[in-house]
Amino acid sequence: MSVPLLRFAPSPNGRLHFGHAYSALLNDDVARRLGGRCLLRIEDIDPGRSRPELIGAIEEDLAWLGLTYERPMRRQSEHMGVYRRALDQLIERRLVYPCFCSRGTIRARVAQMQAAGTRIIVDPDGTPIYPGTCRTMSDEQSAQLRSRGAPHTWRLDMARALDVAPYPFGFRCFEPDGSGADVPADPSRWGDAVIARRDVPTSYHLSVVLDDDAQGISHIVRGADLLAATDLHVLLQRLLGLRSPAYHHHRLIMAEDGEKLAKSRGSETLGDLRARGVTSAEIRAKLGF
Ligand code: GLU
Repeated sequence: MSVPLLRFAPSPNGRLHFGHAYSALLNDDVARRLGGRCLLRIEDIDPGRSRPELIGAIEEDLAWLGLTYERPMRRQSEHMGVYRRALDQLIERRLVYPCFCSRGTIRARVAQMQAAGTRIIVDPDGTPIYPGTCRTMSDEQSAQLRSRGAPHTWRLDMARALDVAPYPFGFRCFEPDGSGADVPADPSRWGDAVIARRDVPTSYHLSVVLDDDAQGISHIVRGADLLAATDLHVLLQRLLGLRSPAYHHHRLIMAEDGEKLAKSRGSETLGDLRARGVTSAEIRAKLGF
């Protein structure tokens, strides 16, 4: 049997904070317990938010925590061709369709439906399920819009996708001691999710499943905020013939006020903590490592 392979996959949108430290340390701990290795992957598909100059700082923070990784590390921005080919395959199989709606037009459509008495269903992130406006657009009309350069995303046609990958299916959830159980997935609760953004031929969901497969990741340790997204990931794995790793979704480390840690909320970064004299041993101890 091959050696368990894990990955810690931060996005270089800001410096790492306490929550990242927990996730990285837990990945390392689980990799050791399972007798495997953990890779570092940089998830930088977002051209607007990624800051390449932060990658070095991220590695420095991790090294300060005592975590070093094999080289070369995978940077998602260097694999756009791989994502493009997978997207083209989904387009060819008519499992995705172009969507020309802006956030504003979707909001307006949802408000209109609500006013007409339609019950609005939200996805696990609390966003109303896409009302399907562009799903029925003719090929001619969408080709015309695209030839004019109209900005568009690509959305999964959930009903068609579930025809191709019929229920039931699920994924393996594991505990750090290696025990686990199979749990069912329900991707339909995401509706026609965006699989490729306007600006790049991919999305977090598409890149993550392609990379996990390409790198041979067998065990994924990540925050509980991504548990619901796993349902969609398992569906994409089925559609694209990719392997499904086992998953462990860990508790989220919250700020003292009980809110999510985030740069936008001014949460202290590991760099800030280090600058004010906190040691990495203290961080590890506080997080239980
Ligand atoms: N890049 C994601 C993040 O920083 C993690 C994705 C994953 O672990 O699947 O939240």
